[in-house]
Amino acid sequence: MEWTLSPFTIYLGVKGKCKDLNHHNYFLGNNFREYSDNIFKTSVAPSKPYYYVNVSSKSNEECAPAGCENIFILCPVPDLRYKPDWSDTESLANNIIDDLSQRINFDLKANTLSRTIWNPIDWQDKFNLYRGSGLGLAHGLNQVGGLRPRNFDEQFSNLFYVGASTTPGTGLPMVIISSKLVCERVLAIGK
Ligand SMILES: Cc1cc2nc3c(=O)[nH]c(=O)nc-3n(C[C@H](O)[C@H](O)[C@H](O)COP(=O)(O)OP(=O)(O)OC[C@H]3O[C@@H](n4cnc5c(N)ncnc54)[C@H](O)[C@@H]3O)c2cc1C
Repeated sequence: MEWTLSPFTIYLGVKGKCKDLNHHNYFLGNNFREYSDNIFKTSVAPSKPYYYVNVSSKSNEECAPAGCENIFILCPVPDLRYKPDWSDTESLANNIIDDLSQRINFDLKANTLSRTIWNPIDWQDKFNLYRGSGLGLAHGLNQVGGLRPRNFDEQFSNLFYVGASTTPGTGLPMVIISSKLVCERVLAIGK
């Protein structure tokens, strides 16, 4: 089975407005192919991480107190099969925060009001995500359509499966469809 990336997430509440950030932001380097080929199958945290930043207070001021910003950072990292040791969590977080501070010309550390960090172990433990895999089973050609695990049990006729790692696939829109498909199966029992 092939699994999707693990999330390394940072949640910051900061004092001040980050003028160089939008609601959605990507911070990538110039070696995308090499980075993406290696990042998911290594036991080492990325030294120059690529990451996504979401600032919902840019669109909805109620998401943060007046004059403040709420910043969510998502950095894709290897799952727990490849990198089980996350004792370097603080240093990776500091690396990302320093890099972002430089890129947006805003001292995030000096203005931090709250800071929460979740590594793949947290994601595994909090949500029972298999080996910290954020999106569950991958969408490789041999794991989509008829080749993906089915949403009904082969032994028990009244047992069904729903969610990212079954049919049709991962991500919120797919998972909603998955729940609809299972509802239809349940309602069809006894008809
Ligand atoms: C950081 C991150 C960012 C993402 N961003 C996006 C995005 O932008 N767009 C998108 O479409 N998708 C995104 N996804 C993927 C999306 O969140 C998942 O595909 C979707 O939530 C899967 O839904 P699910 O119902 O299968 O599982 P989950 O949402 O994981 O729900 C399963 C629930 O079951 C609970 N549970 C697990 N085991 C047990 C147990 N034994 N007993 C009782 N309860 C249990 C868990 O705690 C959890 O609440 C993201 C995922 C992550 C991790």
